[in-house]
Formats: sequence, structure tokens, C-alpha cells
Amino acid sequence: MTDALLTFEESLAKFDPAMGLEVHVELNTNSKMFCGCPTEFGAEPNTRVCPTCPGLPGAMPVVNRVAVESAMRIGLALNCEIAEWCRFARKNYFYPDMPKNFQTSQYDEPIAFDGFMDVTVPIDGGGPR
Ligand SMILES: [Zn+2]
Repeated sequence: MTDALLTFEESLAKFDPAMGLEVHVELNTNSKMFCGCPTEFGAEPNTRVCPTCPGLPGAMPVVNRVAVESAMRIGLALNCEIAEWCRFARKNYFYPDMPKNFQTSQYDEPIAFDGFMDVTVPIDGGGPR
């Protein structure tokens, strides 16, 4: 057994490629995802924050209903199944501009899942150049 690399054709014959996308979208909601703070731009610094924004102890995030509805619409447009319920989780990591050191995110129980989008690819592999 060698550690030789497979050719492209050998790889296609041996594996069934599956790809996923992680897409970040800013929705046009009037308030933030987990609190009632406004999302409009142009305000004075630190005037659009509440105890939930930096994750202060005791702050209780509440999910934005309009954002969930938008996520469901996006899921339906992408042929996803829409979960009857879902869960948000804390993704802990340090990031200099996020003092709470966690991101509230979806991990294993998302709002929408198992979707697909057909993409037409020219046989010659061409496209915008
Ligand atoms: Zn807030």
C-alpha cells in the first residue's frame, strides 16, 4: 500500500462528494436576534445595547420571531425540512470584539435542514472568468 495521491477520476469513482454551505445573512429585522435592541445604523456608540447584548449575568435572550420566520422562508426556498422545534447553543470562544466569549448559534438542531439547491454547471467546467 502506498500513500500515492488519487487522481481526480479515481477520487470521483471512490467517493461520493457531499458539500455544505454555511451562509451568514443579515436579516432586515427591526431588532437584534436575541433582544429588543434596534438594528438601525447611525446611532451614537453604545446606545443600541442592553444587558443581553454582551451576555451579562442574568440576562435572558429571547429569540426574534421575525428572524425565525425569515429563516423558515429561506429554508423552504432551499427545499429544506422545517423543524417543529429547534435549539440554540453557545459556541464558546474568545474573540476580541465579543466580550461575552460565546456566540449563540445553531448546531445540531437547526430551524431548517436537509435542503438542496440545483446548480447548473457547464460540462466544460467553464463559467464566469
Ligand atoms: Zn440588546
